[in-house]
Amino acid sequence: MSVVGFDVGNLQSVIAVARNRGIDIVANEVSNRATPSMVSFGAKQRYIGESAKTQEMGNFKNTVSALKRIIGRSYDEPEVQEFESQFIGCKLCDIGGEVGVEVTYLGQPAQFSATQLYAMYLGKLRDTTSRELGGRMSDVVISVPAWYTDRQRRAVVQASQIAGLNCLRVVNDSTAVALGYGITKSDLPEDAARNVVFVDLGHSSFTVSVVAFKKGELKVRSVAYDRGVGGRNFDKALADHFIALFDEKYKLDIRSNSKAQVRLYAACEKLKKVLSANSQAPITVENLMNDVDANAMYSRDEFVELIEPLLKRLEGPISRAIADAGISADEIHSVEAVGGSLRIPAVKQRLAELFGRDLSYTLNQEEAVARGCALQCAIASPAFRVREFSINDITAHPIRLKWEAVGGSDDTGLDVFGHNNPIPSTKMVTFYRKQPFVVEAEYADPARLPPGTNPWISRFEIKNVGPAANGDLSTIKAKVRLDLSGVLSITSAYTVVETEVEEPVPQPEPKEGEEPKTPEMRKVRKLVKDAELPVVQTSQCLDAAAVGQLAKREAEMHAADELVAATEVAKNSLEEYIYEIRGKVEGEYKDYVEPATQAEFLATLTAAEDWLYDEGEDATREAYLDKLAGLRGTGDPIAERQREDVARPKAARELRDAI
Ligand code: ATP
Ligand code: MG
Repeated sequence: MSVVGFDVGNLQSVIAVARNRGIDIVANEVSNRATPSMVSFGAKQRYIGESAKTQEMGNFKNTVSALKRIIGRSYDEPEVQEFESQFIGCKLCDIGGEVGVEVTYLGQPAQFSATQLYAMYLGKLRDTTSRELGGRMSDVVISVPAWYTDRQRRAVVQASQIAGLNCLRVVNDSTAVALGYGITKSDLPEDAARNVVFVDLGHSSFTVSVVAFKKGELKVRSVAYDRGVGGRNFDKALADHFIALFDEKYKLDIRSNSKAQVRLYAACEKLKKVLSANSQAPITVENLMNDVDANAMYSRDEFVELIEPLLKRLEGPISRAIADAGISADEIHSVEAVGGSLRIPAVKQRLAELFGRDLSYTLNQEEAVARGCALQCAIASPAFRVREFSINDITAHPIRLKWEAVGGSDDTGLDVFGHNNPIPSTKMVTFYRKQPFVVEAEYADPARLPPGTNPWISRFEIKNVGPAANGDLSTIKAKVRLDLSGVLSITSAYTVVETEVEEPVPQPEPKEGEEPKTPEMRKVRKLVKDAELPVVQTSQCLDAAAVGQLAKREAEMHAADELVAATEVAKNSLEEYIYEIRGKVEGEYKDYVEPATQAEFLATLTAAEDWLYDEGEDATREAYLDKLAGLRGTGDPIAERQREDVARPKAARELRDAI
């Protein structure tokens, strides 16, 4: 059984697998330890991960990034429209309430929802992992930002189902990092907790969490974030600067040319990275547009000044996290830093100033989240033994239940889970009803959500409710659960009835030397479970049938991609064979073939080569395999004669030596 963690990052994703000797990071097909989080659609196939990144420049209109920023969100959310759209080359659209993209795929217009795109990407991570494990993987834990809503969390789980994976849970990325930290520390205190702050500045967001560690357990005290500060915002600041500069210098209207924008953006990310190690650096974009090679020098000081408004925003989440945790600065044991953007010296410096201490870099900045996810998967998997470690996470968004008032009562709702409520968590809620009824769940504090997000979470229909035996209201208990993934459901609802039960009367502890008395029994009236009630939940996510259909569609597209890859392999083998056998038939095989046959074979090879570059350019896998088999029909016997002949003197020599 596989024990796998995926850290799905906005720029790149990391795969970790737990094995008995520890956690390993899985390298992808080009040996990189992180895979670009990108999907691209082509005329013949999809390109996912590394190959999508290669396609990005030439095919930006059909290449999708920012997958984790759009999954489980609506097309009309202002942040999607005004902000995320800037980072996505293709046209956005609405697909059944979720944002999606409109692309050209296999030469036809096609639409895919964000959940589908995420599933395609997970499929790529699955294939990379399966190749490493030598068998198809299934169980996985996937990282999500702590600010994900119920809808986004469910969408990730559904995307994993579409990709044929079994997502045991989604885990907040900051908590995954904390788990990786805690489980390896052998010196955690038994009583007074050790408070560690984790900061993660990645590609698209900044997260700060305060976690209390004791031996064998972690407890997340608080988590705060800014969804709008990360590496891509630094890149954008640079791009905006150079768009203005190159307009002034070369009279180029770069915003009118998407391709030029994509190329400038890439150059800006590169410049940003170079400036982490150098105090100044050139930016060069050959043939940026209108045959102009654009270039300029830029210094680290200028960069720091440029991003100052973003650096200022690092303070907010830090003070919120510390305040929510209810600790003072001197109670912080250490500040652990993760995320690629913490390689920027100005960021390191600013954070050190804000915390009034140096940051620790003991965790692997890019891989800590994935490692934590794999550990979480190992803990959840019955097939794996891990050191006992209990994880107490929290939810960022408070949740409220609402219902219609009945019988003149003004009781219409309940704040069921507060800000930073522990997860998992179960609350029993009591209702008095005579008829089936509906409970709605919503986020109690919409201001915490991105502007325009629908705060509605789910509708629960509690069925089969009737009056009690005496005609009065029935008493109904509902178990409301926020699970380990931070996903809300009503796991069960049932009626209770008051019944007389017999129970022992509580007795004081017998004194020393005293014989315990025979317990006396008494009759009491108690509420006991009567009938289980069906609960039907509807949310903004797909229903099971739709997930099944999308899984089928995904499997078809995957099979089509596999066929394209297998066809390419067959074509390459044919091409290779033609070159190889031609050289040999003219060289080392020359004496093993009749001159007439040789001439005829060489002509056949030339014809096959011509076919390959002409009508055979785009043939089927079978056509390439048939062609190869045909050529081998002539070539193999020649090769065999030569092989036997060369082997014969050797065999004779060996025979002579043996006697
Ligand atoms: P997120 O966590 O926001 O979803 P992610 O996990 O993909 O995103 P990381 O891999 O932690 O993000 O970091 C990627 C970011 O770090 C990118 O913006 C990248 O440009 C930036 N980065 C990586 N190396 C450097 C460097 N040497 N200097 C500056 N920035 C860097
Ligand atoms: Mg990250």
